[in-house]
Amino acid sequence: MLQRLFLILCLLSCVALTSAGCSKPETEQAVAAQTDAAEELDAGPVPGVDYHSFANTDDYRVRHVDMDLTVDFSRKVLEGEVILHFDRLNDSNNPLILDTRDLVVESVRAGQGDDLQDTTFTLVDSDDFLGEPLTIDLPSDATTVAVRYRTIPEASGLQWLDPIQTAGKQHPFLFTQAQAIHARSFVPLQDTPGVRMTYNATIRTPAELRAVMSANNDPDAEKNGIYHFSMPQPIPSYLIALAVGDLEFKAMGDRTGVYAEKELLDAAAAEFEDTESMLEIAEDMYGPYRWDRYDLLILPPSFPFGGMENPRLSFITPTVLAGDKSLVALIAHELAHSWSGNLVTNSSWRDLWLNEGFTTYLTSRIMQNVYGDERYHMEMALGYARLEDDLENLDDTAQILAIDMRGIDPDDAFSNIPYNKGALFLYELEQKVGRDDFDRFLLDYFNEFAFQSVTTEDFLAYLERTLLQTHMEALDADRINQWIFEPGLPDAAPHPTSDAFSRIDPVRQGWLDGGIAASDIDTDGWTYHQWKYFLDGMPEMLTEGQLAAIDQAFGLTKSTNNEIAFSWLRIAIRNDYAPAFARLEHFLMSIGRNKFVMPLYQDLMDNNKADFAVRVFEQARPGYHPLTVKRNSQIVYPETDS
Ligand SMILES: [Zn+2]
Repeated sequence: MLQRLFLILCLLSCVALTSAGCSKPETEQAVAAQTDAAEELDAGPVPGVDYHSFANTDDYRVRHVDMDLTVDFSRKVLEGEVILHFDRLNDSNNPLILDTRDLVVESVRAGQGDDLQDTTFTLVDSDDFLGEPLTIDLPSDATTVAVRYRTIPEASGLQWLDPIQTAGKQHPFLFTQAQAIHARSFVPLQDTPGVRMTYNATIRTPAELRAVMSANNDPDAEKNGIYHFSMPQPIPSYLIALAVGDLEFKAMGDRTGVYAEKELLDAAAAEFEDTESMLEIAEDMYGPYRWDRYDLLILPPSFPFGGMENPRLSFITPTVLAGDKSLVALIAHELAHSWSGNLVTNSSWRDLWLNEGFTTYLTSRIMQNVYGDERYHMEMALGYARLEDDLENLDDTAQILAIDMRGIDPDDAFSNIPYNKGALFLYELEQKVGRDDFDRFLLDYFNEFAFQSVTTEDFLAYLERTLLQTHMEALDADRINQWIFEPGLPDAAPHPTSDAFSRIDPVRQGWLDGGIAASDIDTDGWTYHQWKYFLDGMPEMLTEGQLAAIDQAFGLTKSTNNEIAFSWLRIAIRNDYAPAFARLEHFLMSIGRNKFVMPLYQDLMDNNKADFAVRVFEQARPGYHPLTVKRNSQIVYPETDS
C-alpha cells in the first residue's frame, strides 16, 4: 500500500517537475511539487494528463519520426538511429524529455534539419514500470534530435522467436507490441497516445526475411534485407509496429490481404476471406476507410493478444484459425479500430474505453451485417456474460469506464470493463435514440475528431452538444455520468440475450438431470457460440461419469477450436478430470494468448494445482512473450506479487 502511494507521488512529481528520475525531494520546489501532487491526487486524475509518460508535451510535440534500424537476430537487438522532428510550443528551451525503457543510448545530436551537433543527455536508471526518462539538452533553435541507441534482448515490446517457435521452423521471427507503453522499449519517443506523428523507416534484416510495418507495405517488394516504409497519416506511438520473418503475401480483395508464413497463408486467407466485405460495410456505416490498404499479419501462437490494430496491418493470433470462420469477430474488431482508436484515439489510458468500448460496439454491428441477426445476438450475449464475470470479480474502482490509472500499469487496464461495459453503454444510447440517429452521431463523431486524441470529457462535451440536444427526452445526463464514472451498471441497463442460447438451456439441464444421454443430444448445426454457451453454463462440479460422457460424445479434449477447448479445459481443471491434462499442458505450451493462458493458470492455482501450474509455466516460459511472462508470473508466483 505504502509502496503504491509512494509510486503515485513519485510519478506525479516527475510529471510536475519534468525532472529526470524519481527520488526523494531535495529542493523546496520539489517538496512543493509533491505537496501539489498529493492535492492533485485527492482531486482525481486530470483529464488529458497522461500519467504514463515522462514526455514534456507542453513544451515540445514530436510530429515526424525517421527510423533507420538493423534487426540483429543473433544478438536479439534492434539498433540504429531515430530522428525526431518536433514543434516548439513555447520559448522555455527546457530539455526535451523522451520516454525510454531499457534502451542503451549511445549518442544524441540536436539541431535543425540535417545540421545536428552532439548534445548532452541523461538517462536515469529505474525499475519503474514507466521506464526511464531520457533528458536531452537542446540548442535554443533545435527542432530535431537524433538518438543512436540499441535495445536489450529482454525489451518488453519485442519478441524474438527462434526458428523452432515458428510454423516453418527454418527462420527466426521478430514482432513488436507497443500498446500500451512498450514502444519506449524499442524507440525513444514521446510515448503517449496524446501525441500523433507520421513516420518513415528503413529496416535492415537478414536478406532471406521480409519486414512489414504499420505503414505502406509493398507485397511485391523484393526480399533483399532492406525495406523502406512510410506512414503518412499521423498515429500515436502505440501504433508503431514492425514484424520480420519468412513472410509471404496473399491478396483477399482489392484492398485486403494476408501476410503469414507460407504454412499458414492459404488457411488464413480462406478463414478471413470476408475481410473485404467487412471493410465495405464499416465504410457504409462510419465513413471512408482512411488508411489505404487493410492487411492482416498472422503471427506465431505466442502473440499475447487476440489481435493488435496496427494501422494498415492488424497483427492477428493464429488461435482464431478455426476452419469455419467462427472466430472472425476478432478481424471485425481490429478493422473497426481503423475508426475507433486509430482515427479517434484515447487521449490517455484512462480513456481506453473510448477505443475499446466503441470498437466492441462497432464489431457487433459489422458482424450483424455480414453474418446475420442470430450470430449478432449470440456474440452480444457472450460479451455480456464476460462483463458479468468482471463485475462480480473486480474491485469497484476497476469497474469505472473513466478509470483512475495513476500508479497502475496500463497493461492491467484491459479487462472487460472498457470493452463490454463501454459497448453496452453505446448499445443503450442506440436503443434510446434509435439506430439511424445513433449511426449518424457516430459518423459525425469520427469526422469531428479524425486524427485527434480525445478525452472522456471531450466525448461527453460532444455528446452534450449533439445527441443530448436532439434527444433531450430520451437521454438523461445523470445516467450517462453514472455509466462513465461509477462502478457496476445503472438500473435496468440492457441485458442482451439470444434465442439460440435459450434453446441450449433445457438441453443442458435435461442432460444434467439424467433425462437425456450425452450421445442423444442433437448438436447438429450448433455453432461454436452454442458449444461455448453449453459448456460455460455447466455447474461448478460435474461427476467423473458426466465428464467422460460429454468428452466421449463430443470429443471435447480433442477440439481444434481453441475457444471450445479453453472452456472445456476450465471445466477439466476445476473437476480434476485427468484425461484432459495432457491437452491442457500442450495448450499452455503452444499458445501465449493471455486471454486463454491467464484464466487457465489462475484456475490451476485456485484448484490446488500450483505444482502443475509452476512446472508447465517454467517449461513454457522461454516461448512466451514478455507480457505473457509478466502477467502469468504474477499468477503462478503470487507471493512475489507486489
Ligand atoms: Zn481492441
